[in-house]
Amino acid sequence: MAKPPMQETLFLLGPGQVELRKHKLPEPRPGEILVAIRAATTCGTDLKVFRRGGHPRMLVVPTPFGHEMSGVIVHAGDAVRGWAMNDEVVIANSAPCGVCDFCERGRENLCRDLHYLNGAFSEYIVVPERFVARSLYRKPEGLPFELAALSEPLACVIHGMDVAALPPKSDCLVIGGGPIGLLFVAMLAAEGHLVTLADPHEKRLETGRALGASQTLEVRRDGRDAQRLRAIGGEGEGFDAVIEATGSPAAWESAIGVVHAGGSVLLFGGCAPGTSVALDTHLAHYSELTLRGAYHHRPATFGRAIDVLARGVFDARLLISGSCGLDGVEEALHAMDRRAALKVAVKP
Ligand SMILES: [Zn+2]
Ligand SMILES: [Zn+2]
Repeated sequence: MAKPPMQETLFLLGPGQVELRKHKLPEPRPGEILVAIRAATTCGTDLKVFRRGGHPRMLVVPTPFGHEMSGVIVHAGDAVRGWAMNDEVVIANSAPCGVCDFCERGRENLCRDLHYLNGAFSEYIVVPERFVARSLYRKPEGLPFELAALSEPLACVIHGMDVAALPPKSDCLVIGGGPIGLLFVAMLAAEGHLVTLADPHEKRLETGRALGASQTLEVRRDGRDAQRLRAIGGEGEGFDAVIEATGSPAAWESAIGVVHAGGSVLLFGGCAPGTSVALDTHLAHYSELTLRGAYHHRPATFGRAIDVLARGVFDARLLISGSCGLDGVEEALHAMDRRAALKVAVKP
């Protein structure tokens, strides 16, 4: 590459603090690829790190952030095989080592040396060698860049579905109508399950119905509505399965209380570090509940997510409530915080 261009990147500086910085693009080394970002979508995790000023596993400020992205290759280093300029790509935000015991068992999301890639809110991103090898996907033709960027959250949801392994036609409750909860609604409905969505916001419930929820319920923000929720599942018996997608301890507790005997609970929303919840041991034991956690995605689910989006299994545009440039990300995050936006497509 002749001369690395200048680029603009949004940096996270601390809690609620971001700054758009103009800086020289690092020159990609052999084996690396330079991608011009065409679309990055904002995510609940971005909002979380924006509020908290970082992430214990992924982000130490000052740092570029944003992790759902698609774009076009503008430079491929000498050692890069199989990729060329102008290829349209989706980049996964993590890359497993491929050799540890977890990777060998196909549980790459638990990799002992999982690398993360952040910096989607930028004009360009350098894709490190390991990501070029394991986390770069061809964007299907005809799939808009902004929908392609949704592969990341959808890959997490598909991983969650694999973990939950629900029997056909399960009567499911999804707690939380944010982007992740809504993606669960869409995927569960697409697979023929019966879906109820619970959330405090009517607008989100409406989106849930459009994505396939057959029933919606307005609940209190703190999620402590277990009895009410239980009463509507399985004619008062409780649900076959519940998916917790809020990341609030109160909702975790509610979730455990709304399934019937033999039911399963997918604990999907990550709570703040150090959080614990009360567990009704009697219920967990005598009712033989299955309680499962699910985190992140695996290469297999990332590939499937791209395929689901390309096939238009559900209307993914319903997840994106607006678009903006790099200078609009801060406002977009505030709008998400007020629940006035779902996901915003950032187009540098
Ligand atoms: Zn995300
Ligand atoms: Zn590994």
